[in-house]
Amino acid sequence: MNILLTGAAGFIGSHLTDKLISNGHSVIGVDNFSTGKAENISHLFSNASFSFLEADCIEPLDIKNDIDWILHFASPASPIDYMQKPFLTLKVGSIAVFNLLDLAREKKAGFFLASTSEIYGDPLVHPQEENYWGNVNPTGPRSVYDESKRFAEAVSFAYKRYYKTKIKIIRIFNTFGPRMQINDGRVVPNFIMQALANKPLTIYGDGLQTRSFCYVSDMVEAITRFLNVEDTGPVNLGNDEEMTILDFARQINELTGNKSEMVFTPLPRDDPKKRKPVLGRAKELLDWQPVIGLKEGLTKTIEYFKKEYEKNSNH
Ligand code: UDP
Repeated sequence: MNILLTGAAGFIGSHLTDKLISNGHSVIGVDNFSTGKAENISHLFSNASFSFLEADCIEPLDIKNDIDWILHFASPASPIDYMQKPFLTLKVGSIAVFNLLDLAREKKAGFFLASTSEIYGDPLVHPQEENYWGNVNPTGPRSVYDESKRFAEAVSFAYKRYYKTKIKIIRIFNTFGPRMQINDGRVVPNFIMQALANKPLTIYGDGLQTRSFCYVSDMVEAITRFLNVEDTGPVNLGNDEEMTILDFARQINELTGNKSEMVFTPLPRDDPKKRKPVLGRAKELLDWQPVIGLKEGLTKTIEYFKKEYEKNSNH
Protein backbone atom coordinates (compact mmCIF):
# COMPACT_ATOMS: atom_id res chain seq x y z
CA MET A 1 0.00 0.00 0.00
CA ASN A 2 0.96 3.65 -0.37
CA ILE A 3 0.88 5.24 3.04
CA LEU A 4 1.15 8.87 4.04
CA LEU A 5 2.37 9.11 7.62
CA THR A 6 2.42 12.39 9.52
CA GLY A 7 4.83 12.59 12.43
CA ALA A 8 7.18 10.18 10.66
CA ALA A 9 10.25 11.62 12.41
CA GLY A 10 8.72 11.22 15.85
CA PHE A 11 9.29 8.43 18.32
CA ILE A 12 6.42 6.10 17.40
CA GLY A 13 6.15 7.49 13.86
CA SER A 14 9.72 6.57 12.98
CA HIS A 15 9.44 3.02 14.34
CA LEU A 16 6.16 2.64 12.49
CA THR A 17 7.78 3.84 9.25
CA ASP A 18 10.48 1.18 9.65
CA LYS A 19 7.87 -1.49 10.27
CA LEU A 20 5.62 -0.49 7.34
CA ILE A 21 8.57 -0.47 4.96
CA SER A 22 9.80 -3.85 6.18
CA ASN A 23 6.24 -5.16 5.61
CA GLY A 24 6.51 -4.09 1.95
CA HIS A 25 4.58 -0.80 1.96
CA SER A 26 5.68 2.54 0.52
CA VAL A 27 5.70 5.44 2.94
CA ILE A 28 5.60 9.17 2.38
CA GLY A 29 6.73 10.59 5.70
CA VAL A 30 5.66 14.08 6.69
CA ASP A 31 7.15 16.00 9.58
CA ASN A 32 8.02 19.59 10.42
CA PHE A 33 10.53 18.54 13.12
CA SER A 34 8.68 20.45 15.79
CA THR A 35 9.19 17.55 18.18
CA GLY A 36 10.55 14.86 15.82
CA LYS A 37 14.16 14.43 14.76
CA ALA A 38 15.68 13.88 11.29
CA GLU A 39 18.08 11.44 12.94
CA ASN A 40 15.18 9.06 13.63
CA ILE A 41 14.59 8.55 9.90
CA SER A 42 17.94 9.44 8.30
CA HIS A 43 18.65 5.72 7.72
CA LEU A 44 15.61 5.67 5.41
CA PHE A 45 16.57 8.57 3.14
CA SER A 46 18.23 6.23 0.64
CA ASN A 47 15.38 3.68 0.74
CA ALA A 48 13.30 3.61 -2.48
CA SER A 49 10.15 2.79 -0.51
CA PHE A 50 10.47 5.98 1.52
CA SER A 51 10.06 9.60 0.57
CA PHE A 52 10.01 12.55 2.89
CA LEU A 53 8.14 15.82 2.86
CA GLU A 54 9.18 18.45 5.39
CA ALA A 55 5.88 20.17 5.98
CA ASP A 56 3.46 21.26 8.66
CA CYS A 57 0.29 19.20 8.28
CA ILE A 58 -1.75 22.06 9.72
CA GLU A 59 -1.46 23.44 6.17
CA PRO A 60 -3.07 21.44 3.33
CA LEU A 61 -0.51 19.05 1.84
CA ASP A 62 0.20 18.95 -1.86
CA ILE A 63 0.46 15.22 -2.61
CA LYS A 64 0.57 14.03 -6.22
CA ASN A 65 0.83 10.28 -5.52
CA ASP A 66 -2.02 7.87 -5.04
CA ILE A 67 -2.54 7.11 -1.38
CA ASP A 68 -4.28 4.15 0.26
CA TRP A 69 -4.03 5.23 3.87
CA ILE A 70 -3.24 8.43 5.76
CA LEU A 71 -1.84 7.75 9.21
CA HIS A 72 -1.97 10.80 11.46
CA PHE A 73 0.69 10.49 14.15
CA ALA A 74 1.91 14.09 14.21
CA SER A 75 1.45 15.80 17.57
CA PRO A 76 3.47 16.91 20.53
CA ALA A 77 2.79 14.12 23.03
CA SER A 78 4.69 14.79 26.24
CA PRO A 79 3.24 17.13 28.87
CA ILE A 80 6.21 19.52 28.56
CA ASP A 81 5.96 19.63 24.75
CA TYR A 82 2.25 20.19 24.55
CA MET A 83 2.25 22.77 27.32
CA GLN A 84 5.06 24.66 25.54
CA LYS A 85 3.29 24.33 22.16
CA PRO A 86 -0.39 24.60 23.09
CA PHE A 87 -1.64 26.12 19.83
CA LEU A 88 0.26 23.74 17.61
CA THR A 89 -1.11 20.84 19.68
CA LEU A 90 -4.66 22.11 19.37
CA LYS A 91 -4.32 22.74 15.63
CA VAL A 92 -2.70 19.41 14.78
CA GLY A 93 -5.68 17.64 16.35
CA SER A 94 -8.27 19.88 14.66
CA ILE A 95 -7.31 21.85 11.51
CA ALA A 96 -4.82 19.17 10.43
CA VAL A 97 -7.41 16.44 10.96
CA PHE A 98 -9.91 18.25 8.71
CA ASN A 99 -7.22 18.76 6.05
CA LEU A 100 -6.09 15.15 6.18
CA LEU A 101 -9.63 13.78 6.13
CA ASP A 102 -10.36 15.97 3.09
CA LEU A 103 -7.21 14.63 1.47
CA ALA A 104 -8.35 11.09 2.31
CA ARG A 105 -11.68 11.76 0.58
CA GLU A 106 -9.94 13.23 -2.46
CA LYS A 107 -7.59 10.23 -2.71
CA LYS A 108 -10.28 7.68 -1.76
CA ALA A 109 -7.98 6.69 1.06
CA GLY A 110 -8.58 5.66 4.65
CA PHE A 111 -7.73 7.86 7.64
CA PHE A 112 -6.03 6.32 10.67
CA LEU A 113 -5.87 8.43 13.82
CA ALA A 114 -3.31 7.97 16.59
CA SER A 115 -5.37 8.92 19.61
CA THR A 116 -4.36 8.48 23.21
CA SER A 117 -5.21 7.16 26.65
CA GLU A 118 -5.26 10.84 27.65
CA ILE A 119 -8.77 11.05 26.26
CA TYR A 120 -9.76 9.17 29.46
CA GLY A 121 -8.24 12.03 31.51
CA ASP A 122 -7.87 11.23 35.22
CA PRO A 123 -10.05 8.14 34.91
CA LEU A 124 -12.80 7.33 37.39
CA VAL A 125 -13.12 3.85 35.92
CA HIS A 126 -10.25 1.41 36.25
CA PRO A 127 -8.89 -0.20 34.15
CA GLN A 128 -9.97 1.75 31.07
CA GLU A 129 -12.14 0.12 28.45
CA GLU A 130 -12.85 1.74 25.09
CA ASN A 131 -16.47 2.46 26.03
CA TYR A 132 -15.42 4.69 28.96
CA TRP A 133 -16.02 8.38 28.11
CA GLY A 134 -13.32 9.74 30.35
CA ASN A 135 -12.81 12.39 33.00
CA VAL A 136 -11.03 15.28 31.32
CA ASN A 137 -10.59 18.78 32.70
CA PRO A 138 -11.48 20.89 29.63
CA THR A 139 -9.57 23.97 30.80
CA GLY A 140 -6.59 22.50 32.70
CA PRO A 141 -2.97 22.43 31.50
CA ARG A 142 -3.37 19.01 29.84
CA SER A 143 -6.56 20.04 28.04
CA VAL A 144 -4.70 21.26 24.95
CA TYR A 145 -3.68 17.68 24.25
CA ASP A 146 -6.63 15.78 25.71
CA GLU A 147 -9.32 17.87 24.05
CA SER A 148 -7.41 18.06 20.79
CA LYS A 149 -7.34 14.27 20.58
CA ARG A 150 -10.97 13.97 21.69
CA PHE A 151 -11.92 16.48 19.01
CA ALA A 152 -9.86 14.55 16.43
CA GLU A 153 -11.82 11.40 17.28
CA ALA A 154 -15.10 13.31 16.91
CA VAL A 155 -14.10 14.76 13.52
CA SER A 156 -13.04 11.33 12.29
CA PHE A 157 -16.33 9.75 13.29
CA ALA A 158 -18.28 12.64 11.72
CA TYR A 159 -16.52 12.00 8.38
CA LYS A 160 -17.27 8.32 8.70
CA ARG A 161 -20.96 8.96 9.40
CA TYR A 162 -21.48 11.76 6.90
CA TYR A 163 -19.09 10.94 4.05
CA LYS A 164 -18.59 7.21 4.72
CA THR A 165 -14.85 7.84 4.96
CA LYS A 166 -12.98 4.77 6.07
CA ILE A 167 -11.45 5.58 9.44
CA LYS A 168 -9.53 3.80 12.17
CA ILE A 169 -8.75 5.01 15.66
CA ILE A 170 -6.25 3.66 18.16
CA ARG A 171 -5.74 4.93 21.70
CA ILE A 172 -2.08 4.68 22.59
CA PHE A 173 -1.14 4.14 26.23
CA ASN A 174 2.31 4.96 27.67
CA THR A 175 4.91 3.69 25.21
CA PHE A 176 8.67 3.76 25.53
CA GLY A 177 11.83 2.76 23.70
CA PRO A 178 14.79 4.06 21.73
CA ARG A 179 14.31 7.39 19.90
CA MET A 180 12.28 8.98 22.66
CA GLN A 181 13.48 12.54 23.10
CA ILE A 182 15.93 12.68 25.99
CA ASN A 183 14.50 15.93 27.33
CA ASP A 184 10.76 15.72 26.75
CA GLY A 185 10.14 15.58 30.48
CA ARG A 186 8.38 12.24 30.48
CA VAL A 187 9.08 9.73 33.16
CA VAL A 188 11.10 7.32 31.01
CA PRO A 189 13.66 9.82 29.62
CA ASN A 190 13.78 11.77 32.90
CA PHE A 191 14.48 8.75 35.08
CA ILE A 192 16.96 7.12 32.71
CA MET A 193 18.93 10.33 32.12
CA GLN A 194 18.97 11.06 35.85
CA ALA A 195 20.08 7.52 36.64
CA LEU A 196 22.86 7.59 34.04
CA ALA A 197 24.17 10.77 35.69
CA ASN A 198 23.95 9.06 39.11
CA LYS A 199 21.48 11.70 40.19
CA PRO A 200 18.36 11.26 42.32
CA LEU A 201 15.22 10.33 40.38
CA THR A 202 12.53 13.00 40.64
CA ILE A 203 9.29 11.44 41.87
CA TYR A 204 6.26 13.67 41.40
CA GLY A 205 3.79 13.39 44.26
CA ASP A 206 4.05 10.29 46.44
CA GLY A 207 4.89 8.09 43.45
CA LEU A 208 1.87 5.89 44.09
CA GLN A 209 0.18 6.95 40.85
CA THR A 210 0.27 4.13 38.32
CA ARG A 211 1.10 3.72 34.64
CA SER A 212 1.40 0.70 32.33
CA PHE A 213 4.35 0.82 29.95
CA CYS A 214 4.43 -0.72 26.48
CA TYR A 215 7.64 -1.30 24.54
CA VAL A 216 7.58 0.37 21.14
CA SER A 217 8.03 -2.81 19.04
CA ASP A 218 4.84 -4.25 20.59
CA MET A 219 3.05 -1.01 19.81
CA VAL A 220 4.01 -0.86 16.12
CA GLU A 221 3.23 -4.56 15.70
CA ALA A 222 -0.31 -3.89 16.95
CA ILE A 223 -0.68 -0.80 14.76
CA THR A 224 0.27 -2.63 11.56
CA ARG A 225 -2.06 -5.51 12.43
CA PHE A 226 -4.92 -3.07 13.02
CA LEU A 227 -4.31 -1.54 9.61
CA ASN A 228 -5.05 -4.94 8.09
CA VAL A 229 -8.34 -5.75 9.83
CA GLU A 230 -11.82 -4.50 8.97
CA ASP A 231 -12.53 -2.50 12.08
CA THR A 232 -12.91 1.17 12.95
CA GLY A 233 -12.03 1.03 16.63
CA PRO A 234 -11.38 2.87 18.80
CA VAL A 235 -9.07 0.25 20.17
CA ASN A 236 -6.75 0.58 23.17
CA LEU A 237 -3.11 -0.33 22.48
CA GLY A 238 -0.50 -0.65 25.18
CA ASN A 239 0.67 -2.99 27.88
CA ASP A 240 -1.60 -3.90 30.79
CA GLU A 241 1.15 -4.52 33.36
CA GLU A 242 0.38 -1.72 35.78
CA MET A 243 2.87 -0.38 38.30
CA THR A 244 3.43 2.58 40.58
CA ILE A 245 5.88 5.24 39.50
CA LEU A 246 7.84 4.43 42.65
CA ASP A 247 8.28 0.81 41.58
CA PHE A 248 9.17 1.98 38.12
CA ALA A 249 11.87 4.23 39.60
CA ARG A 250 13.25 1.31 41.64
CA GLN A 251 13.54 -0.78 38.45
CA ILE A 252 15.46 1.98 36.68
CA ASN A 253 17.84 2.38 39.60
CA GLU A 254 18.39 -1.35 39.72
CA LEU A 255 19.06 -1.68 35.98
CA THR A 256 21.45 1.28 35.89
CA GLY A 257 23.11 0.75 39.27
CA ASN A 258 22.13 4.25 40.40
CA LYS A 259 22.53 4.49 44.18
CA SER A 260 21.20 8.04 44.69
CA GLU A 261 18.16 8.55 46.92
CA MET A 262 14.96 9.61 45.19
CA VAL A 263 13.60 13.13 45.63
CA PHE A 264 9.91 13.94 45.90
CA THR A 265 8.45 17.04 44.27
CA PRO A 266 4.80 18.18 43.93
CA LEU A 267 2.50 16.30 41.58
CA PRO A 268 1.66 18.33 38.45
CA ARG A 269 -1.96 19.46 38.17
CA ASP A 270 -4.43 16.90 36.79
CA ASP A 271 -1.78 14.17 36.66
CA PRO A 272 -3.82 10.95 36.22
CA LYS A 273 -3.72 8.81 39.38
CA LYS A 274 -4.15 5.52 37.57
CA ARG A 275 -3.84 4.25 34.04
CA LYS A 276 -4.17 0.75 32.68
CA PRO A 277 -5.70 -0.35 29.41
CA VAL A 278 -8.25 -3.10 28.99
CA LEU A 279 -6.72 -4.90 26.02
CA GLY A 280 -9.47 -7.44 25.33
CA ARG A 281 -10.59 -5.78 22.12
CA ALA A 282 -7.06 -5.49 20.75
CA LYS A 283 -6.18 -9.06 21.67
CA GLU A 284 -9.28 -10.49 20.03
CA LEU A 285 -9.19 -8.30 16.96
CA LEU A 286 -5.48 -8.50 16.27
CA ASP A 287 -4.51 -11.86 17.72
CA TRP A 288 -1.82 -9.85 19.49
CA GLN A 289 -0.47 -9.22 22.92
CA PRO A 290 2.57 -7.39 24.20
CA VAL A 291 5.55 -9.74 24.37
CA ILE A 292 8.40 -7.52 25.58
CA GLY A 293 8.55 -7.40 29.36
CA LEU A 294 9.43 -4.20 31.19
CA LYS A 295 12.95 -5.28 32.11
CA GLU A 296 13.81 -6.32 28.56
CA GLY A 297 12.34 -3.13 27.10
CA LEU A 298 14.08 -0.93 29.63
CA THR A 299 17.43 -2.62 29.03
CA LYS A 300 17.20 -1.81 25.30
CA THR A 301 16.03 1.72 26.04
CA ILE A 302 18.82 2.36 28.55
CA GLU A 303 21.36 1.25 25.89
CA TYR A 304 19.97 3.91 23.54
CA PHE A 305 19.94 6.61 26.20
CA LYS A 306 23.53 5.76 27.19
CA LYS A 307 24.66 6.67 23.67
CA GLU A 308 22.59 9.86 23.75
CA TYR A 309 24.00 10.68 27.19
CA GLU A 310 27.56 10.24 25.95
CA LYS A 311 26.86 12.41 22.88
CA ASN A 312 25.50 15.12 25.16
CA SER A 313 28.34 15.01 27.65
CA ASN A 314 30.95 15.19 24.86
CA HIS A 315 29.59 18.59 23.81
N1 UDP B 1 6.72 11.54 36.63
C1 UDP B 1 7.57 11.55 37.74
N2 UDP B 1 8.81 12.08 37.60
C2 UDP B 1 9.27 12.60 36.42
C3 UDP B 1 8.40 12.57 35.30
C4 UDP B 1 7.14 12.04 35.44
O1 UDP B 1 7.20 11.10 38.83
O2 UDP B 1 10.42 13.06 36.39
C5 UDP B 1 5.38 10.93 36.76
C6 UDP B 1 4.25 11.83 36.29
O3 UDP B 1 3.83 12.69 37.33
C7 UDP B 1 3.20 10.81 35.92
C8 UDP B 1 4.01 9.61 35.41
O4 UDP B 1 5.33 9.80 35.94
O5 UDP B 1 2.44 10.43 37.03
C9 UDP B 1 4.07 9.50 33.92
O6 UDP B 1 4.40 10.75 33.41
P1 UDP B 1 4.70 11.02 31.88
O7 UDP B 1 4.96 12.50 31.75
O8 UDP B 1 5.74 10.11 31.39
O9 UDP B 1 3.39 10.63 31.08
P2 UDP B 1 1.82 10.72 31.35
O10 UDP B 1 1.43 9.31 31.49
O11 UDP B 1 1.54 11.52 32.59
O12 UDP B 1 1.30 11.37 30.12
